[in-house]
Amino acid sequence: MQAFVLTGPTAVGKGTVIAELRKEMPDLWFSISATTRAPRPGEVDGVNYFFVTHEEFDRLVAEGQMLEWAVVHGLNKYGTPRGPVDEALAQGRTVLLEVDLAGARQIRESMPEAAQIFLAPPSWEELEARLRGRGTESAEEQRRRLETAKVELAAEGEFDEVVVNITVAQATEDILKIMAEGR
Ligand code: 5GP
Repeated sequence: MQAFVLTGPTAVGKGTVIAELRKEMPDLWFSISATTRAPRPGEVDGVNYFFVTHEEFDRLVAEGQMLEWAVVHGLNKYGTPRGPVDEALAQGRTVLLEVDLAGARQIRESMPEAAQIFLAPPSWEELEARLRGRGTESAEEQRRRLETAKVELAAEGEFDEVVVNITVAQATEDILKIMAEGR
C-alpha cells in the first residue's frame, strides 16, 4: 500500500506544497474531500472539494461511504470519500490524503499502513503571519483556526514524519523523499 496522509495547521502551506507535489509527481493520486463549507472564490466543485449540503454529507456518512470524516474548526464537516481511494490503491497508485488531526487519527486505526506526515510551520509567529497575510478568513474565523492550530501542533509527535515548511521547495523535496522511501 502506498498511502500517505498529510496533516498540518491552517495556513501552513499544505495547498501550495500539495500543488508542487502533484507537479513533481504526476502519477500521484490526490483525494478530493467532501465538505459542507462554502466554496472560496475560484474554488471549483469536484476539483478542490465536493461541496455538499449537511444533509448530503450526513447521508454519505450513514451509508458508510466516508473513510474518515471530522468537524473541522468546530464549524464544517470534511471527509474522504472511501470508494475512489480504494480504487486508486487497487490500481497501484500512490495516494495522498489531506486531512485534519481527527481524520489522521481515524486513518491510523483503519489504515495503519498509511504513512502519516505532519507539515509544521517554522514558528507560531510565522503561522499567524501567514494566516493574516492570506486574508481569506474573517478575524473571528482566523481566531478559531489558530485555536485548532494549537491543538494540532501539540499532536505533531503522533506522526511518522514531521516536515517543517520553511520554503515550499524544501518541504516538497522532503515529502518526495519520504514518498520514495515508502514505496
Ligand atoms: P479549508 O477550509 O482551509 O479548505 O480546510 C480546512 C482543513 O480541513 C484543512 O486544513 C484540513 O486539515 C481539513 N480537511 C480537508 N479535507 C479533509 C478531509 O477530507 N477530512 C478531514 N478530516 N479533514 C479535512
